[in-house]
Amino acid sequence: MTIAPSPVLDHLIEGYRRFCQTGWVPERERWARLREGQQPDVMVIACADSRTDPAMVFDVDPGEMFVVRNVAAMVPPFETSPGHHGVSAALEFAVQVLKVKEIVVMGHGMCGGCRAALTQELHGAEPGEGGFIADWIAMLDEARAPIAATLGTTGRTAERAMEEAGVKVSLANLRTFPCIRRKERDGTLKLRGAFFAISDGVLHLLDEASGVFQPVE
Ligand SMILES: [Zn+2]
Repeated sequence: MTIAPSPVLDHLIEGYRRFCQTGWVPERERWARLREGQQPDVMVIACADSRTDPAMVFDVDPGEMFVVRNVAAMVPPFETSPGHHGVSAALEFAVQVLKVKEIVVMGHGMCGGCRAALTQELHGAEPGEGGFIADWIAMLDEARAPIAATLGTTGRTAERAMEEAGVKVSLANLRTFPCIRRKERDGTLKLRGAFFAISDGVLHLLDEASGVFQPVE
């Protein structure tokens, strides 16, 4: 049994070798400390999109940020139905075990998941042929309706509105988790919405009172 070579794997291994030189050796002390456990203060929920790595956007070191990434940075509502609740499990761990102080939901520009939610182009697709995505982003259907009605289903204005609405849906769904609601009320947990605009690299933070995403100066 040999490990089949490929240009993709070569690229990863090259990166790993650079990491060993520039990431591992100079930071040996940090890694030794992290071996004992992690104590991140923040959990970030972001899209799986290859252009919006939260650790890169926030320039954090290993051990500082507990991250969940999925299609469109979605948090499903608190559900006890049968199934494998990956996001809920991660939330439970971050909030109840790690006791993070803040949860940041970070949406992003040019999000394919949000675009598909808007166009509903995968509607009716079979699982494995787009059906899993369609089912996942159906969480955005309610938020989509007024956007589609007023801005249409194509073009950047409608897409941006859908991307920003997605963050608000995830925040609302976070608050359906009793433990999160309780900790937010106690003041031991803060929820934040953020948006990373890929085109200009500008981070925006949601002002929940006005519903407006404001650029970070
Ligand atoms: Zn995305």
